[in-house]
Amino acid sequence: MKRLFLISVVLMTAASTMAPLQIFASGKLQVVSTLPDFAWLAQQVGGDFAQVQSLARGSQDPHFVDPKPSYLVDLHRADALLLDGMQLEIGWLPPLLQQCGNPRIQPGSPGYVDLSQFITPIEVPVGGVDRSMGDIHPMGNPHYHLDPYNMALIAEGLGGVFGKLDPSHAAQYAENGRKTAAAMRDLGEEIAKMLAPLKGEPVVTYHSTLDYFFLRYGFHVVGFVEPKAGIKPSPVSLMELEQRMKEKNAKLLITEAYQDLKTARRVAGDTGATLVVIPSYTGGAKGAETYPDLIRFIANAILEASRG
Ligand SMILES: [Zn+2]
Repeated sequence: MKRLFLISVVLMTAASTMAPLQIFASGKLQVVSTLPDFAWLAQQVGGDFAQVQSLARGSQDPHFVDPKPSYLVDLHRADALLLDGMQLEIGWLPPLLQQCGNPRIQPGSPGYVDLSQFITPIEVPVGGVDRSMGDIHPMGNPHYHLDPYNMALIAEGLGGVFGKLDPSHAAQYAENGRKTAAAMRDLGEEIAKMLAPLKGEPVVTYHSTLDYFFLRYGFHVVGFVEPKAGIKPSPVSLMELEQRMKEKNAKLLITEAYQDLKTARRVAGDTGATLVVIPSYTGGAKGAETYPDLIRFIANAILEASRG
């Protein structure tokens, strides 16, 4: 954090000598996304007029990203910041935003784009926000990117957002947004056809990263390795989970690659389930370099495991 602080001082000094609200210094709309999936989507919508990059990599757990000094440099020159929101990035993004010396992407500015505004969240806790039990999803499930239909809504939303930030290309952004949304809906249908034989299949997963995907494609989630989002399993919670898996005949344990695979492997071994390790963000594995490839990768991995 000390290094981050030093860099932020340099950036703020630099900012004070620059013209305020200087936009498009490079000639392109500079977009920074916290996550690689939204970076991929934003590049489709931004086309030739935008330069997009992601802070987190697809192999990282997005709840816990180690901030790098280079993030401050990226944020400092950004015209737009795309974030997942719903407190997904609360553990690492706020200090970076405070220190980046860029008024264009602060909360409330047009360049601060919380993408959760475009989707309907699931698993929103009833009766108010409560992090006291350690649940890291106090505003509902923030992993909405794994439903291609959500990505369609976001693509259309970004078409409008980019048009406001860069009005001279508004028509192109809107057109790209519509085209990308159509492609995402096509992808959604392609996956639905692939996974049709697995409708109603009981599955267990580690964290609730795939819940939007499971809901979209009709899987029946019977349990989680984590007793609550972000809470480590205990011997008792694992015993209860294994019992439920046997009762519900759950033969697939699907986990993100960055989780504790030793525990996941043990649960699968105890219950006779097949462990399916998947990338859960774009770029999280070889063969998942783009968002459509990620979704196909996940669907294929589940399909293959179900065939034994
Ligand atoms: Zn989560």
